[in-house]
Amino acid sequence: MKILVIEDSAVDRRLTSKHLKEWGFEPSVASSGEAGWKALQASDAPKLVITDWMLPDIEGIELCRRIRGASEGRPYTYIMLVTARNQKKDLLRAMEAGADDYLVKPFSKLELKARLIAARRILDLQEQLIRLGDSLRFAATHDPLTGLWNRAQILDFLQRELVRADRDEKPLGVVLVDLDHFKKLNDTLGHLAGDAVLKEISKRMHGNIRVYDGIGRYGGEEFLIVFPGCDTKIAMRRAEDLRRLIGGKGIEALGRKVQVTASLGVAIAEPGADISLEGLIQQADEALYAAKRGGRNRAHASGKS
Ligand code: GH3
Ligand code: MG
Ligand code: MG
Ligand code: MG
Repeated sequence: MKILVIEDSAVDRRLTSKHLKEWGFEPSVASSGEAGWKALQASDAPKLVITDWMLPDIEGIELCRRIRGASEGRPYTYIMLVTARNQKKDLLRAMEAGADDYLVKPFSKLELKARLIAARRILDLQEQLIRLGDSLRFAATHDPLTGLWNRAQILDFLQRELVRADRDEKPLGVVLVDLDHFKKLNDTLGHLAGDAVLKEISKRMHGNIRVYDGIGRYGGEEFLIVFPGCDTKIAMRRAEDLRRLIGGKGIEALGRKVQVTASLGVAIAEPGADISLEGLIQQADEALYAAKRGGRNRAHASGKS
């Protein structure tokens, strides 16, 4: 664990660093508040700071205020303030300024070690909390089986892209993909084989779209893909690519080779048409049903007979 030691006394700096190294920490040092503040601006700056109170330029207590003031969106910095001041009101000032702990000079080696145990515990908890937050965010926006965006997330993306397309007076294409006779596949090979097929198809489609396109699992064996900037002709071409990608090569599902096809419905929000999200999906859905009626394993554009 990296620790930044901000201390103007060369003797104290060396001694503290020596102890820290001995206990397996990676200390770096700054001899002034300004140098310490600068070191803390790096993206991989230490999350644990041991700072002297009395420094020639920026005082330790002012550093505490600055660190807390700039904390938004950053990982937590644990601050241990070290000083010769030992009055209760100094302790209160330090904590109010944002210090997490307070050590009175001269302190013993053991005292420093004890305080570092607590500091590390707090920082470990903080890291766990961040990881938990990340995984909750992922779970709230992604489909657990395929790893694609879930329905709410792809609809959210579509809503934002519709607003953007309207502002930029550009078309926007959506494609609804529905696997053909998927119930039969489940019935004959089992639900787990069906799951494996859904995963593989998702991977193929996700690998084929551009970074600014969006793909999500819309329902059981249905996917919604958003193609910003695509008119009917281009969106149909992309839909055809997807259709071939799904049905072209057999899929390994639990040791068996399976052939799957999909039907695709394409709809376009034309510039200036002022179509709602619901209206656009409805059109894609109708086009999808036309593709099913037309014999499946095909793409159909909305409004075409
Ligand atoms: P169609 O060509 O008309 O679309 O026929 P279909 O059988 O695909 O359509 P239907 O809507 O009748 O059935 C969809 C099937 O998709 C039924 C359901 O068991 C299956 N399914 C939905 N979600 C999952 C899933 O997560 N895993 C598996 N294995 N199957 C799923
Ligand atoms: Mg000093
Ligand atoms: Mg379906
Ligand atoms: Mg289906």
